[in-house]
Amino acid sequence: MGILTGKKALIFGVANDHSIAWGISQAFHREGAELGFSYAGDKLERRVRPLAASLGSDFVEPCDVSQDADIATVMEKAKARFGEIDILVHSIAFANRDDLSGPYYNVSRDGFKTAMDVSVYSFTALARAALPIMKPGGSMLTLTYLGSVRAVHHYNVMGVAKAALEASVRYLAMDMGADEKRIRVNSISAGPIRTLAVAGIQGSRQMISEFAKVSLLGRNISIDDVGNSAAYLCSDLASGVTGEIHYVDAGYNVAGFPADG
Ligand code: NAD
Repeated sequence: MGILTGKKALIFGVANDHSIAWGISQAFHREGAELGFSYAGDKLERRVRPLAASLGSDFVEPCDVSQDADIATVMEKAKARFGEIDILVHSIAFANRDDLSGPYYNVSRDGFKTAMDVSVYSFTALARAALPIMKPGGSMLTLTYLGSVRAVHHYNVMGVAKAALEASVRYLAMDMGADEKRIRVNSISAGPIRTLAVAGIQGSRQMISEFAKVSLLGRNISIDDVGNSAAYLCSDLASGVTGEIHYVDAGYNVAGFPADG
């Protein structure tokens, strides 16, 4: 018996086998969950469908989270297929490449809106749309990064978006906790991992190699590290945990001056 046996999870944000959402999917599958997937854009369908099949899932539906109609359709289809779901995973972010280099203050109004819409509002929109099909005691999870609470070179508007996302987690946890279904809402703040999304951030390669020198475990983070923590947070083992920003970063966020020499 896995810690997610009998649970059904809807996962948004697999782009390829480097995606954090893929690490989460693999851990969920190992722990016994039944999975449904969503992808953004036709190009990604070709990648996501075989990945889903490798975990025994043929529920693979398109959803651009900036489109309310797409969100409504995917939830209708999930209801028809699964009846109810236990877990919603939001592993999605986007900002224009131009807004991830140079001074933060150069962000355009449109660039700001795009980052906030796709990276922040989408979690609230998905949470609201999923609530009617969530099983009581279920849980929702999103992904954030330290750039929300610290100034990280080049992270810029995405840091501002992550701060808003983390605030959303607390407000959603309040709303969902007061609802009779008592859904839990949490986030994982992951250390830097080389994924498609990170490739768009200037200097990310250097940041990832420096990270291991400062982190308390002296290493980088993998999508498996994040997947394992996600499995715990979305399982009944975390039944008393909601509204949290849970760091999966090898202790980087608490490090002071850890390196000898
Ligand atoms: P990724 O590129 O594999 O995943 C990002 C996903 O967002 C992709 O699947 C992409 O299709 C999806 N997406 C973008 N715009 C969308 C839209 N309009 N509609 C639907 N989906 C859309 O990269 P990742 O690193 O796995 O990112 C997943 C999450 O983890 C993001 O929220 C990211 O900010 C967060 N995160 C990443 C790191 C890291 O270092 N990789 C660290 C902390 C947090």
